[in-house]
Amino acid sequence: MSVTAIVGANWGDEGKGKMTDYLAGESDYVVRFQGGNNAGHTVINDYGMFALHLLPSGVFHANVVNILGPGVALNIAAFLREREEIISRGVPEPVLRVSDRAQLVMPYHVLFDKYEEDRLGKRKFGSTQAGIAPFYADKYVKVGVQVADLFNVDRLRSRIESALVPKNILLEHLYGKPTISVEDLLTDLLHDAERIKPFLCDTTALLHDALVADKRVLLEGQLGALRDPDHGIYPWSTSSSPLAGFGAVGAGIPPYAVQRIVSVVKAYSTCVGAGPFVTEILGQQAHELRERGGAEGEYGATTGRPRRVGWFDGVATRYGCRVQGATEVALTLLDVLGYLDEIPVCGAYEVDGEIRNDFPVPAELDYAKPVYQNLPGWKRDISSVREFKNLPFQAQDYVKCIEELVGVPVNWISVGPARESIIGPIIEQPVAAW
Ligand code: GDP
Repeated sequence: MSVTAIVGANWGDEGKGKMTDYLAGESDYVVRFQGGNNAGHTVINDYGMFALHLLPSGVFHANVVNILGPGVALNIAAFLREREEIISRGVPEPVLRVSDRAQLVMPYHVLFDKYEEDRLGKRKFGSTQAGIAPFYADKYVKVGVQVADLFNVDRLRSRIESALVPKNILLEHLYGKPTISVEDLLTDLLHDAERIKPFLCDTTALLHDALVADKRVLLEGQLGALRDPDHGIYPWSTSSSPLAGFGAVGAGIPPYAVQRIVSVVKAYSTCVGAGPFVTEILGQQAHELRERGGAEGEYGATTGRPRRVGWFDGVATRYGCRVQGATEVALTLLDVLGYLDEIPVCGAYEVDGEIRNDFPVPAELDYAKPVYQNLPGWKRDISSVREFKNLPFQAQDYVKCIEELVGVPVNWISVGPARESIIGPIIEQPVAAW
């Protein structure tokens, strides 16, 4: 059994899409196991530049089966729209399979996401308003709708009738908005049913057979470890677990099948929306890093919002790799730092006068201050380097410093947004150092 999980060690936007698109070239299946169309993965390859939201990043490889597993939040309209969009831009029709157990993001989830953020005003979470928090809330209070329910009209009607009772009370009395009619919603859902039907199957059985046949499977995480509801910066977290451990659950495969966990680590830090961000920088310094970062600046792939930026945070990333269970690191966006004379790296926090190496609980994070060391910059464009030994020695030292701080071997270094801008594999048999 050979399953590799590609997951984020930070706050998301680490470049998982790029790494998945690259590693999918040697894979048979790529599986999304959590989240929905709330975040974006940017992929740049021979077909152009794409921001994928719900489709797995293996869709550019004709021989890869791309799966949305049972743990995914399925917005049917968004799924179909995204698929049509990439095909209209010349990508060969991808092989896509959607779990018949995946639950549906309903139109009311999107409305509630927006209405609640509006109600919270200044206290809002900075949701991308794709309906994901209300979706997972409904799933766990057991009023969600599985996609297979669309093909049993009596069951579907009764599910949405009971879901809508409290929702219509909230719409009318809390938010002062129009209520939702069961019949209108049912008509729309039955229309969606026919459109999604060709993609549905028992993906758990499909993946079981794939593993028995020794096929190569990639799990693609969305967001990063610090957004995990249990282990992250709650409540500034997402609503599903982006951890490799949950990958097995959300994809429907045995936990022991996941043998490699590629933890994608950004060479500096970015964070979207509100919440504690210890190494955040502001002003002109931040503006410069934001404009030089990512493929076209550090702006959200889904919302276009400017991302908050900061220096590399060794405390948060070490913890992120630990809760991911990283066996290797893919260090991304190293090329971006080539303009700096000196690069601050945070190796510890100071909380109430005490030096801390372990990531504090959210209640303490607001008081944490970064302890920096400055490393010399390399002041060069490294985007065409393809071997570690050809990196400027300052860049090699930066990578080694990060490796030491996080305690996991760096196996890949990404030096540009395009598929081929990569160094690695660097090590033969990656194993975590801790
Ligand atoms: P994901 O959600 O983890 O896939 O990350 P995003 O796509 O949201 O953000 C990563 C951004 O960095 C995108 O704009 C990518 O095109 C870009 N990117 C990925 N790897 C590299 C890299 O090594 N160098 C540069 N300059 N940009 C990169």
